[in-house]
Amino acid sequence: MSEIFAVAGTPSVQRCESCGATWPELDASATCRSCDGLLAIVQPTPTAHGAALLQRFGSRCCTHPGSEASGVWRFAELVMPTATSHVTHPEGNTPLLRRTAVQTYAGVAELWLKHEGQNPTGSFKDRGMTVAVTQAARVGARAVACASTGNTSASLASYAAHAGIPALVLVPRGQVAMGKLTQSLAYGARTLLVDGSFDDCLRLVREASAELGVYLVNSVNPWRIEGQKTIVFELLQQRGWQAPDWIALPAGNLGNTSAFGKALREAHALGLIDRVPRLLAVQAAGAAPFATAFADDFATHPTVKPETIATAIRIGDPASWDRAIRAIRETNGAVASVTDDEILDAKAVIDAAGVGCEPASAASVAGVRKLRAAGVIAPDATVVAVLTGHVLKDPGALIEYHQQRDPAPSRANRPVEIGATLAEVARVLSAPAH
Ligand SMILES: *Cc1c(COP(=O)(O)O)cnc(C)c1O
Repeated sequence: MSEIFAVAGTPSVQRCESCGATWPELDASATCRSCDGLLAIVQPTPTAHGAALLQRFGSRCCTHPGSEASGVWRFAELVMPTATSHVTHPEGNTPLLRRTAVQTYAGVAELWLKHEGQNPTGSFKDRGMTVAVTQAARVGARAVACASTGNTSASLASYAAHAGIPALVLVPRGQVAMGKLTQSLAYGARTLLVDGSFDDCLRLVREASAELGVYLVNSVNPWRIEGQKTIVFELLQQRGWQAPDWIALPAGNLGNTSAFGKALREAHALGLIDRVPRLLAVQAAGAAPFATAFADDFATHPTVKPETIATAIRIGDPASWDRAIRAIRETNGAVASVTDDEILDAKAVIDAAGVGCEPASAASVAGVRKLRAAGVIAPDATVVAVLTGHVLKDPGALIEYHQQRDPAPSRANRPVEIGATLAEVARVLSAPAH
């Protein structure tokens, strides 16, 4: 033990693996100062051993093997109470982050980022998919299928593989971000690139499921909505069941907006929260039929030919229209639209804070900033903005923004090409970053 650990109660040390010299834990040298050997950290002996140490670790987290480790199935009573086994990775348990730079950018007193991009396949879609594929297994489906702007298919492909059920995904050709399409292929789904829009894919897969007896898991699938409710339950739990003033989320097909409305309705009815936060659904300006209708108090139901860099919300005829209206009305909510430039600017701030998200996700923060500036959100408000997907989902958008766009956007981080000399490294280090 004494060779592996240092004396209890002392700081960690850095020990050279070549000569055995030890250096203080805060020594910044990358290798041994006397012989240039590699350094390894030696920790102090823990004050608890064996079962006592295990108990200490166990008491710090709520994760047990199996379903209880899931941030979805933790709320099983409100998701799918009768299921006795679950198709789970697990998923959920995503962090609630506070970053000063993003909060200042949004302009509100308290901004929290619920990072759903930290789910197993990199988006919140996993929360609905664990439930929908559990249901597919329960009903003995011979195959599962979905239409998708990318993240649903990536998630379905993964959960179907886990369950051992064949998966079929339909995506609009040329309109799916690289990270998402490659995930579907990697996880082994039959992937159809449809010459049409997302709305065409949805129509086709609906027809196919009716004709071919395939279990459909697109966003109108009610079990997916049940799973997605747990984003709200979990963020409320993380806040000690203190409701924020607003919850902001990007809105495409409106499944998530509907799920959030249902979650808040149920949480309030059960007395889990004593007031209902206001929902802010944010659309991309080029795909904003719901925002247009909201401005008209939902008197109209427009559809559009969608166009936006935020491919996850590039939807012109949202499927969950009516239940999303209910979610906005019941929460005294709002619907906003933001331009692609506003989305990319907010994304650059979120990314540069070390958090990172895909373009659609940044619409939530862009929307908070916009409605704060318009006076709809008060300056002293507490807001939770949901980041729906991971920064690596859309590497193409990042390359275009940081390396290719001409002129460079003000927040672009252009890489610097240099010759292989120390002098050039030194020159770059002493120059201002942008
Ligand atoms: C699916 C998705 C959305 C939109 O959610 P809807 O339920 O379709 O409104 C937003 N962002 C990301 C990253 C998504 O994958």
